Amino acid sequence: MKLILATGNKGKVREIKQMCENFEVIPYSDLIEPFEIVEDAPDFKGNALIKARAVYEALNDDSVVVIADDSGISVDVLDGQPGIHSARYGGPEADDKDNLHKLMGAIKDKGVESSPAHYTAAIAIVYKGQEETVHGWMHGTALSSPRGENGFGYDPMFIPQGHEQTLGQLDDKIKSKLSHRGKALRLAKIILEGVATRF
Ligand code: IMP
Repeated sequence: MKLILATGNKGKVREIKQMCENFEVIPYSDLIEPFEIVEDAPDFKGNALIKARAVYEALNDDSVVVIADDSGISVDVLDGQPGIHSARYGGPEADDKDNLHKLMGAIKDKGVESSPAHYTAAIAIVYKGQEETVHGWMHGTALSSPRGENGFGYDPMFIPQGHEQTLGQLDDKIKSKLSHRGKALRLAKIILEGVATRF
């Protein structure tokens, strides 16, 4: 069974490939020209479904299973921002580093050095007219200054609950045990193992 990832985000592709070693995992951009997908749902689940459906339709191949992850970080002192806007927090042209620095600056502007925060991941699975979704969360502390270079996105500013180092300092294996995406993927794998018997 070919598992197609509806994402071009290298950090997500790496983590999902590491955790789904039983499947042939292929980023959709290896098969077709990447295209813009408007993620205008009000929540992570809706946006994950929009991405997975768009790629499934574009591939036009009922022998594939498409999975999409929509994820982000919500910071308490910022009333839950950036949340579903995490990818575009620093503006339409912003990259991961711009987003990271904007978020650390926003925490500093509140007059604090850290805030409780959590990550959410929604994973949508689309195949042969069927749709499934699962979620995972990771709670912890968002910092106003970065530590470490590992991971991607907001990892250098986030300390998972029960740890003293940021995800930028912890290695990928520890992150996959704790992370929102790791938790959602473990649920997704249960569904995918059932789906695989139908292909
Ligand atoms: P999406 O591709 O629309 O789901 O955007 C997700 C955004 O949240 C991107 O800016 C990511 O950098 C950020 N993000 C999601 N998951 C993680 C993570 O595990 N670590 C760091 N940043 C993340």
